[in-house]
Amino acid sequence: MVESLCCGFVFSNCYVISNDKKECIVIDPGQNFLNNYKIITSKYSVKAVFLTHGHFDHIDGIGYFKNIDIYIGLNDKNMIYDLNDSLYNVFGYKRSYNPTEISIKTVNDNDIIEISDFKIKCISTPGHSKGGMVYEINGDLFCGDTIFNMSIGRSDFIGGSLTDLKKSIKKLFNLYDDSKVLYPGHNDMTTIGYEKKHNPFLTDL
Ligand SMILES: [Zn+2]
Repeated sequence: MVESLCCGFVFSNCYVISNDKKECIVIDPGQNFLNNYKIITSKYSVKAVFLTHGHFDHIDGIGYFKNIDIYIGLNDKNMIYDLNDSLYNVFGYKRSYNPTEISIKTVNDNDIIEISDFKIKCISTPGHSKGGMVYEINGDLFCGDTIFNMSIGRSDFIGGSLTDLKKSIKKLFNLYDDSKVLYPGHNDMTTIGYEKKHNPFLTDL
């Protein structure tokens, strides 16, 4: 089952993927996370946290997961520690976790991580950030700020590149068929087929 929780001031999506053993994987715990943390842990035992990228609005809640492995793309690892690259300073938010208290693990393209009965496939998708990752879990894609319903991620932040972003989206389009469900980092879920047809930013792909 996939549940979506809205986080913080820029309405980032946190996703909770659970199995019938009441275990879950958490994707992108964002800002103002206490209430969401209570909701998640009242229902599930959290097995791991996966971050699609290192921007503040997708990572700020990681401090609640002190004894749990937190995975991020290798090239975004520095953002866990750096207040500029993670955009805390750019947007003027205070970091709410202590980086020395968490357990960070890195992932690379094509890594497959198996935790309990969850199988997480890591797909490197640079463009919004250098180390951006899309995770395929139980057949669905959790795509962070790479592609949105009718939009694409910003590429003007540190480490961003519009050319890379479009290449990454093309890679997803080539890897998966039109029925593949996309759970983006902001706004509503969508599918690859819908975005191929309607996304106004991808007419040149
Ligand atoms: Zn972002």
